[in-house]
Amino acid sequence: MVENRFVCKDGAQCWTRVSHRALTDRHGNHTGGLAIMSDITASKAQAVELRKSEHFVAALTDSMVEGMFALDRDGRVSYMNHAAERLLGWTKDELASRSIHDTVHYQHEDHSPYAAADCPLQAALRTGTTVRVEDDTFTRRDGRLLAVSYSAAPITIDGQVEGIAVVFGDISARRAGEQRQKQELERLTWIGRIRDALDEDRLMLYAQPIIEVQSQAVVAHELLLRMVDRDGAIIAPIRFLPAAEQYGLIEEIDRWVLAQAITLAGRGHKVHFNISAKSLGSRELIGDLERGLRDTGAALGLLVCEITETALAGDEAVAEAFVDELRELGCEIALDDFGIGYGGFAYLKRLPITALKIDIEFVRDLVENPQNQHVVKAIVNLAQGFGREAVAEGVENQATLELLEEYGVDYAQGYAIGHPSPIDTVFTDDAPNTTPTQTRAGSN
Ligand code: C2E
Ligand code: MG
Ligand code: MG
Repeated sequence: MVENRFVCKDGAQCWTRVSHRALTDRHGNHTGGLAIMSDITASKAQAVELRKSEHFVAALTDSMVEGMFALDRDGRVSYMNHAAERLLGWTKDELASRSIHDTVHYQHEDHSPYAAADCPLQAALRTGTTVRVEDDTFTRRDGRLLAVSYSAAPITIDGQVEGIAVVFGDISARRAGEQRQKQELERLTWIGRIRDALDEDRLMLYAQPIIEVQSQAVVAHELLLRMVDRDGAIIAPIRFLPAAEQYGLIEEIDRWVLAQAITLAGRGHKVHFNISAKSLGSRELIGDLERGLRDTGAALGLLVCEITETALAGDEAVAEAFVDELRELGCEIALDDFGIGYGGFAYLKRLPITALKIDIEFVRDLVENPQNQHVVKAIVNLAQGFGREAVAEGVENQATLELLEEYGVDYAQGYAIGHPSPIDTVFTDDAPNTTPTQTRAGSN
């Protein structure tokens, strides 16, 4: 079969397809030939048009910034442009004939499964209507999520829906911006709530016992801040302290906490109090401490200031001078959340730190986690090497406490020893709680 192009008598070009057949007599001798010629000009023209239109579509869609893919009636990918390949991380060939729901659209932003019944793409296929979605999630080939908006329009041939064309855009930047705005707004509303809580005396302190591991005696308490909302709900510090730090309210809070701590120390209780990195170097805080100790006549060594290890990484000179001043006033220093932050140990040599508080992260699952066992042992060694005490926080069970004793940890704190409770239920009289004979506070 041969295809030929001819020029007709009138000058027009035409295409023919010729099939040849040899003719033979009954003895097999060649007697002639038969040629059947058909005019294929129209179908040739159609094919050229189709190729042109395919190139045209590819040229058009590949120049688009938006991703685009087409799905057949079963929701399988039949076409993808360059942008879609780039955004989704799949090549056209890899995704060809795969179900879009199973490969790209199977989960929500929170990783929960995307039910096919709720899928707007499936809906567009089912109903043959155009669908516009402002905020949805596709999953890239590498598993990363892509925030997208898209529209899906039906591809109709002879009145039949044969598939859909989907054009989508990456809205990650927009979504991140909205998220930031939401957080910012939330923080701003916290400012008002914190201000009101300070003005209406709705901050309160809980206390959590700290025991000496060897004797199991309660030797101190850590004071932990709470906010009481107008409806009486108790709010954890993680919810409002970041906003307080960001918008300049933290120093006022830390000074309020210090005042309570000094009062308790004046009554003979050994208490740890936390201060934020932002309050390091505060002259007002040092002034309050100096006056408070003088006014209450609290014995030296009853106040322990907890500063996170990361807070020291800020302005080292300021931190160092501040810590020195606290020590001179008789306040001990514990490095909080030790092990997760700073990483340098040079300050251990320089700063008069009393104790290292091993971060909860390493203690909580100590019994089952050999890596954490190494970390805890290493911190105990470090503390001993520098002549500091080691305190484990986040002790959630008896087995952990026994292991900590074996490792030589000096003090422990955690739910297995006692939960934080409001200070007026913990310090019920003026008797000091520093005597080793005191029993463990309600081990709940
Ligand atoms: P932090 O100083 O490291 O306090 C320990 C946190 O662990 C407390 O959370 C405590 O309730 C919790 N915790 C105690 N035992 C366990 C346990 O066995 N398991 C587990 N999973 N957690 C335990 P809280 O009270 O929510 O305080 C969180 C953080 O907020 C504190 O961490 C501290 O950084 C900050 N914070 C608390 N009170 C104050 C404060 O008065 N001033 C400042 N600036 N920060 C504070
Ligand atoms: Mg602390
Ligand atoms: Mg801590």
